[in-house]
Amino acid sequence: MHDQAQRYARQMILPGFGDTAQARLRTAKVAVVGAGGLGSPVLYYLAAAGVGHITLIDGDRVALSNLHRQILFETADVTHFKAEAAQQSLNDLNPDCEVSSITQMLDDKNATALLQGHDLVLDTSDRVATRLAVNRACVTLSLPLVSAAVAGWHGQVYYFTGQPCYACLYPDIEPGTDDTACSEAGILGSTAGIVGSWQALWALQLLAQVGTVSPGNMLILDANAAQMRHVKIERNPSCSVCS
Ligand SMILES: [Zn+2]
Repeated sequence: MHDQAQRYARQMILPGFGDTAQARLRTAKVAVVGAGGLGSPVLYYLAAAGVGHITLIDGDRVALSNLHRQILFETADVTHFKAEAAQQSLNDLNPDCEVSSITQMLDDKNATALLQGHDLVLDTSDRVATRLAVNRACVTLSLPLVSAAVAGWHGQVYYFTGQPCYACLYPDIEPGTDDTACSEAGILGSTAGIVGSWQALWALQLLAQVGTVSPGNMLILDANAAQMRHVKIERNPSCSVCS
């Protein structure tokens, strides 16, 4: 307990935080879909802050072209499963955090089974089909979802609890669209770092019950213009997922 008090000392002295918020993080069960450019800061900051249980879902393997932004991984991890390499990095960072790794791609068939039983879902994936499947499962299971996307100089972070949902925002998006393919748009690692850090911040505020993030919040980053703006997402009354 003494070690834990030291490890989390700087966040526990935040106004409104303290033992109660730290205990909420310790008992939290969080699912993180994707261990890439967004997943790296998300997973590191959640584990570092003392989130007790993290389920990490990613069926990809580490490639050399990932390393400039996916800072969970080292050169020696290339060709290894991301979920397993990330689990090792998180265990090294904070042994208090229990991490389960699933080396499987989430899709419509397995999403509900993989996500149920968690308190919060974080979508850090870079595929539209995955994001739609995560959103559908979260609406079905009534799970809160913090989703994010990044490509080029642009990023978004969203928080949903049922209505509105991700599909309200993008009613016509096709599952095959890869709107955030970093291989096409390019990206600087630190841009993914900003967006993923914001996603982690919202998750920690929600789990610890501090701060003011509310459902339907959306943050839009233009890193090239050094601008960030906040938008309130409206419910779509004809949404095929949440209405
Ligand atoms: Zn909806």
